Amino acid sequence: MRAARLNLYDLTRTDLQALFLRWEFSPVHAVRLWNYLYLALAASFDEMPELPAKVRARLSAETSIGTLAVALETDSSDGFTRKYLLTLADGEKIETVLMRFSGRVTACVSSQVGCAMGCVFCATGQMGYTRHLTPGEIVAQAVHVARALKLVTPHPSHVTPRREAPPPRLRNVVLMGMGEPLHNYDAVMHAIDILRDSSGLAVAAERITLSTVGVVPGILRLAAEQRPSHLAVSLHAATQEERVALVPVAKKWPLDELMAACRTYSEQTGRKIFYEWTLIEGKNDTPEHARAVGRLLRGLPAQVNLIPLNPTVGYAGTPTHTEAAKRFQKILADEFQLPSTVRQRRGIDIAAGCGQLAVAN
Ligand code: SF4
Repeated sequence: MRAARLNLYDLTRTDLQALFLRWEFSPVHAVRLWNYLYLALAASFDEMPELPAKVRARLSAETSIGTLAVALETDSSDGFTRKYLLTLADGEKIETVLMRFSGRVTACVSSQVGCAMGCVFCATGQMGYTRHLTPGEIVAQAVHVARALKLVTPHPSHVTPRREAPPPRLRNVVLMGMGEPLHNYDAVMHAIDILRDSSGLAVAAERITLSTVGVVPGILRLAAEQRPSHLAVSLHAATQEERVALVPVAKKWPLDELMAACRTYSEQTGRKIFYEWTLIEGKNDTPEHARAVGRLLRGLPAQVNLIPLNPTVGYAGTPTHTEAAKRFQKILADEFQLPSTVRQRRGIDIAAGCGQLAVAN
């Protein structure tokens, strides 16, 4: 059996330099290759004319540019969201979402094929776990979105360079697609290191958000390693009993352990945590629930992100109405001085919203 080719998106800039050193190629060529990959966003070695033929030949023979093929591309009716169904080298499929908010573009990327956490309201959880993504497969999703932005950038010839609007750049990456990022910790951190490289995609650490459903060892490791990205913790319930019903993995990492880990994280990093709360009508959206969240998060540097439930085939719950969401928010603010936002709903009509990503088997 032929060994799998080295995916260049798996390599940090230092790794690439080391590879070229081993191959006895000039480090200048490693720099050029890096620039082709992450500044020019080249998808093939043919798009790299400044690399000598012998370098390109060796790259072609032993490596690949892990570009992901698009199996399907869907635009939301409001034009703000585009969802990509992408095919991995082994034929598995994942979803990646490009979201436009006023003044910013965000890539929502996946970290696994499926997910082992089994949150009841989540389409990815409903499909089960297949495998972890490699760092290169995570990076490739961000590159895909960056390329898409480059393609849609208007460059009308009649516009003088001075008046030309700056091209939209990929500035925000959220690991909120398919999968639990802290279940695939090493690959995700390696990918983040590549995304953050200031000579490459240069996504600032504070513009990268990791979302976890409460993998306690991962949260503690983030704290110990002083990882600078944002952390979002999906809470959804403020008692162990209610949480287990929505997030089965809470049996393994109970709410008190999770909150202790969050406290440690905030103490060690000095950063607030974003607590995600999917608002499900009648289940976790009453004033009593709001007060329970307020009490649970009292004294912690926290912001609550309220997300009205997005529909999935496998879960019968309904989203909280706007009025009830506002009431929830007001209780958090007035009684607990706890800041919160109600997540702008994007891409619901194309199943690209939170908890809706899934791949049909
Ligand atoms: S919400 Fe996140 S952690 Fe839970 S099943 Fe879905 S993808 Fe996995």
